This record gives sequence, C-alpha cells and structure tokens, in this order.
Amino acid sequence: MLQKTILRPVEFEGVGVHSGESARIVLHPEGPDRGIRFLLSGKYIPASYRHVIATDHATVLGAEGLTVSTVEHLLGVLYALGIDNLTVEFLRGREVPILDGSGYYFYKALKDAVLELRKEARVLQVVSPLEVGRGQAHIRAEPYEGLCVFYRGYVRGLLQEGTARYCGNAKEVVFARTFCYEEEVELLQRRGLARGGSLKNAVVIGEGRVHNPEGLRSKDEPIRHKLLDLLGDLSLLGARLSGRVFSHLGGHALNYTFVKALAESSLSTSLRSSSVSTPW
Ligand code: ZN
Repeated sequence: MLQKTILRPVEFEGVGVHSGESARIVLHPEGPDRGIRFLLSGKYIPASYRHVIATDHATVLGAEGLTVSTVEHLLGVLYALGIDNLTVEFLRGREVPILDGSGYYFYKALKDAVLELRKEARVLQVVSPLEVGRGQAHIRAEPYEGLCVFYRGYVRGLLQEGTARYCGNAKEVVFARTFCYEEEVELLQRRGLARGGSLKNAVVIGEGRVHNPEGLRSKDEPIRHKLLDLLGDLSLLGARLSGRVFSHLGGHALNYTFVKALAESSLSTSLRSSSVSTPW
C-alpha cells in the first residue's frame, strides 16, 4: 500500500461552526513521510494525537501556543481517501470551515486529486484486542486484515439503535452532517460554541423531529456522522490502521483516549512499515 498526497493545491472557504469566524484554507501536496500538518502563522501543527489539546464537541490541535479546531471532518475524509501527506495552510481564521456540516465538499474536491507516492504507507496493525470505555460508551479494536470501523448509537426521539459501517467506501459516510439536539443549542452558545451553527451546516433534532426543512439525508445520518468523526480522530494515529474497530456511543474524548491507547500500546500493536523517518 503506497503513501498518497494530492495532485494540486485545493482551497476551501467558509465559516467555522464554533467560532463563527470566516476561514480560508489551502491544502498543499507534500512528499512522503511528511504526514498531515496544519500551517498557521508560519508554524506547523501535526495532525497527531500528541497534539490534541481539547475534545469538547470538536477536536482541537495545538503547538507552540497556536491552535486549530474542528479538524475532524476534513481529517475523516483524508483518512477515507488514504491521503497520508499534505499541508493544510490557514490563510484566514483557525477553525476548519464547516461547509455543509459534512465531509461532502472535501470529498468532492479531493476524490479525483489523489496522487500515489513511491513509498510504502505506515500501517499500525492491531495484533490483539484493545478496549477503552467511559460510562456506557466503549471502543474496541480487534485484529483484522484491512480496516473496518463500526459505530453503534441512537438518535434520541428518532432512531432507537443503529449501526453504521465503514469498510473502505467513503461515500457511505462523507455525506453525513453534524447534528445537535434542540435543547443543546442555547447551552453550546452560552459556552462560546456553535456560534457559526445554522440549519445550513447542522442538523437540529427536537421532539422527535428534524428542524431542517430538507430532513435527514439518511435515516441514520447522525450515526454515520459519528462514524466520520471517529475516522477523523483515528487519522491522528499518523498511520493507516489495520484492524476492526467497534465504537458504542463514543465521542471525541473517548476517541482520543482510544487512539492514544492504541498508539502507545506496543504490546498489542506492531508497526509495519518500510519508512524510516516519522514526522511526529
Ligand atoms: Zn462532527
């Protein structure tokens, strides 16, 4: 499996869902073993679990006093497309544009711009089961050849229980938009979050119905979105993952705990790679 980057720079512009600020980012191609990095004010922030500084309703990365936030949808799409190396330069703002709340526009712009590099990808192989949990939520990894990720959860008032699955088909997850429950909106905004949120970039669920006039894109869209979030957080491993991952009600905080445990557990995993240098 070869490493990948993109053929040409690709630009995105839009509001940040939490900050409400306008942002403009350009994705630049990179050579092998660079990894995914964010570039802000001349400084690089690697897309690595080692640089996670907050996981409250979004994944925030930081280095040298600088932070970039809501990185997970873009990273989820990059992971699903197998893109290992590129730089995300912030020309304005420091929160990745939310666009329509899903990974759709990132996917649409990048799917035909993927370029293979002449170097084997780093692969983190799960060789024995590993599980992390918090309250009712848990995430488990099992040995498997290839990558299959499952998310099991419910949508209050709409869907009792459902499981979404990603086993290599990005189209099954990239369209799913971020969501919140009606009663959370005010609380989020009081805490300085969701300032850029609207029915154009988030699904709002209340009293067993969806406030967005167009409804859901699929019955289990919120569950598929949680799966997209998980893929984005898994990308913070800094390597492809070979294994089967099951998440039950996991969110960014538990995803981070899981990724950290997976990366740091040298007993349960082994790194298979032909590359010698690592950027993180
Ligand atoms: Zn999300």
